[in-house]
Amino acid sequence: MMLRMRPIIIAANWKMNTGPSDAAELALEIARRTREPEVVRVICPPFVCLAPVAAALAGEGVGIGAQNVHHELAGAFTGEVSAAMLAGLADWVILGHSERRRDAGETDALIGAKLRRAIASGLRPILCVGEQLADRDAGRAEDVVAAQVEGALAGIDTAVLAGSGLVVAYEPVWAIGTGRTARGADAAAMAERIRSTIDAAGHAGIAADVPVLYGGSVTSGSIAEFLAEPTIDGALVGGASLKPDEMAAIVGRAGLTARARRDAGPRDGPSAT
Ligand code: PEP
Repeated sequence: MMLRMRPIIIAANWKMNTGPSDAAELALEIARRTREPEVVRVICPPFVCLAPVAAALAGEGVGIGAQNVHHELAGAFTGEVSAAMLAGLADWVILGHSERRRDAGETDALIGAKLRRAIASGLRPILCVGEQLADRDAGRAEDVVAAQVEGALAGIDTAVLAGSGLVVAYEPVWAIGTGRTARGADAAAMAERIRSTIDAAGHAGIAADVPVLYGGSVTSGSIAEFLAEPTIDGALVGGASLKPDEMAAIVGRAGLTARARRDAGPRDGPSAT
């Protein structure tokens, strides 16, 4: 029996905002105003901003993530970015964001292929899942999300998954960019369902160690409701992540949670690590 604690992670998804001339300054301001040693901070700028952001954040202890990656290593894929191209620029990658499922038609099978490529390339994946409003209204939100998790993880070896640092972001589609958020209790229940799905997919040894983030209109005003849930380990923040004041408050709150959980002590249970 091993004792373990999941990290608290605040990841910023800048989406299609900022450019090479202003991203570095914004990233540095956020980094300096969010120095919480017990919180894992990640900034995911647009591809063209990765190099200036990586240079600006050198030594700041902030992870840098891409917002997508192609599943093939190289070839005739106009406009795409491979994992190899991200080497030295990003150590994390967002996969399966609902805006890519919607706009680029990404399926669970394709997201699974991207997940395997990311893991093989040493990129730490943030796998996004979430239901549509109609799914929630019909009472099938958990089944939809479980199917997304199963689809993305299909065929991945447990040992490979265990070493991947997989993070899952639960992002109800109806809450992204809308100003509406899920209720903390619903997000917490979904986090449990996500872990039980990973368990049931044959990865029982690692499910309890997978951090689950909430995403969907998180702000400094709503973060506390999610971090109050022991099954939720942080947030994937979109719009508010472009505002240094918001990020300072969100990461500050996450620091309080990280210290409270540390003081409460680790959970017990079987661990693969
Ligand atoms: C996101 O981009 O993942 C997101 C949750 O966006 P927002 O916080 O703007 O809803």
